[in-house]
Amino acid sequence: MIDGVIKYDFQFTKSEPLSVENYLEIESVRERLYDLNLIGVTKEGIGFGNISRRIDANSFVITGTQTGHLAKLSGEHYSLVEEYNDKEFYLKSSGSIKPSSEALTHGIIYNLSSKIGAVIHIHSKEIWNFMLTHDYLKTKAVEYGSVEMIDEVNRIFSNIEPLSNPKFVMAGHEDGVMVFGEDLVGAELVLMGILEEMGK
Ligand SMILES: [Zn+2]
Repeated sequence: MIDGVIKYDFQFTKSEPLSVENYLEIESVRERLYDLNLIGVTKEGIGFGNISRRIDANSFVITGTQTGHLAKLSGEHYSLVEEYNDKEFYLKSSGSIKPSSEALTHGIIYNLSSKIGAVIHIHSKEIWNFMLTHDYLKTKAVEYGSVEMIDEVNRIFSNIEPLSNPKFVMAGHEDGVMVFGEDLVGAELVLMGILEEMGK
């Protein structure tokens, strides 16, 4: 980074669909969240929501871009992020589809702690409003996928162990909420916990 100029370098190599062991766990969580309309498609036809699970230190599997309208996904709808560097805005992926445009935000979260094994991003007006008006971690009104978002995620977790409070609301990304956990089941439980706090 020179003089604050960010080089975006998102490389994608089209390859065979991912094999089922890469996404089987994601798929079972995703089906439940799709049924709750926490992952889906807006009236305007824009897909929302994405899920990832860590493969190793610097790689993860994530749902592909614009797959929100699909009730069930298979190998061609998932993407493997092989390498990333949030500070350099570098992300290298492969699969039959490009990763979700929010993949780098998932990467920022994985970088918070090596113990984080799964990240879920959902959209919900109700949950978003609830979290913004209650005592939850919040990123300021910055765009997702921006340098400011990287700084914001690091800022809100600068003084706490991330897994002790693995959820935050994105003030600058309408309806956007992120939860994470040591694994997918754990991340889903965090989300269900918020619904419980809402009295759902
Ligand atoms: Zn979003």
